Amino acid sequence: MRFAQLIGSRSLEILPGPDPEARPGQAVVEIDYCGIGGSDRSAWVAGEAASPAWFGHEWTGRIVQLAHDMPDRFVGQRVVAAVGPSCGQCRPCAFGAPANCQRVLEQIVGLDPLAASHGGFATHTVADARRLAPVGEAIDSRDAVLTEPAAVAAHAIRRSGFMLGDVVVVLGTGTIGLLTAELARIGGAAAVVSVDHASARRELACDLGADAAFAGVNDGLTAWLNDHTSGLGADVVFVCVDAAEAIAGGLGLVRPGGVIVAVGVGNQIENLSVTALLRREADFRVSLGYKIDDVRRVQTLMGADQLRVRPLLQPVDVALDQLAAALNNENQSSGPPKVVVRTSA
Ligand SMILES: [Zn+2]
Repeated sequence: MRFAQLIGSRSLEILPGPDPEARPGQAVVEIDYCGIGGSDRSAWVAGEAASPAWFGHEWTGRIVQLAHDMPDRFVGQRVVAAVGPSCGQCRPCAFGAPANCQRVLEQIVGLDPLAASHGGFATHTVADARRLAPVGEAIDSRDAVLTEPAAVAAHAIRRSGFMLGDVVVVLGTGTIGLLTAELARIGGAAAVVSVDHASARRELACDLGADAAFAGVNDGLTAWLNDHTSGLGADVVFVCVDAAEAIAGGLGLVRPGGVIVAVGVGNQIENLSVTALLRREADFRVSLGYKIDDVRRVQTLMGADQLRVRPLLQPVDVALDQLAAALNNENQSSGPPKVVVRTSA
């Protein structure tokens, strides 16, 4: 087997390794595809990831070995890296808060006890078998790399308290932003507005169902919101970009009593104005990762072709040996947001 290992800022090696063996609770997966996420680009620049297994975590493949009998897993099954059910043993679980299971959060960032010593930019890996979500017949293996980002977006929608008929603004048209806008549309938003400086991405957002897209707050967005909400503002604003100033900009768009949600695990929330929230009696919420239930919901929507993910994928795969070049390519704003690494030979 071969795997990518970060060895410093903007530096990695593709190394040979021994064929992985499944320890109790684990499965060995032959990886087919791994998406490059925002956290991978951050790790590439920093020279290290939150954990070795976190560098390349949007992977999909097939189970080739199981440690022991798993009732709903089998060798040959197509799977995607996700999270398992709540563990029942950590402190939040033990005290009746399984929705905040610590093990699930550890699995997301590759810090659980059964995590591999490397990420999914590899031909093979091991993982806790319980966190491998089966890929349904109707879902293409390559499309399945967007299961995890879609689950992140679905979790953000749930955290927002979004309701049928809401007017929604999504800041950012990266993978998470586009998927959040799509899911809001599917969920019955009265209107969805995407915001991004990249014009090609604004077009993509509209192709995927956004009613309007603007380059920024001062580019007609405020006027559009005034026209469409009787001057009130958006019911929900999702902040799907890392820029700290986006929170302040987003707050200005929320209606009195509305909600602003910071999505994902990488947001730097530094200049949140409690006064601005107070004046509107608006809620600020965070969304961290996703749950097994979010995975199930987005898989259903992907399988029914309601959630269209393929337009988000760059059409040409990157080979494992081209990973460094792909990570160095900063100019990602002109095409579809998701670069897909084909890890098999
Ligand atoms: Zn737990």
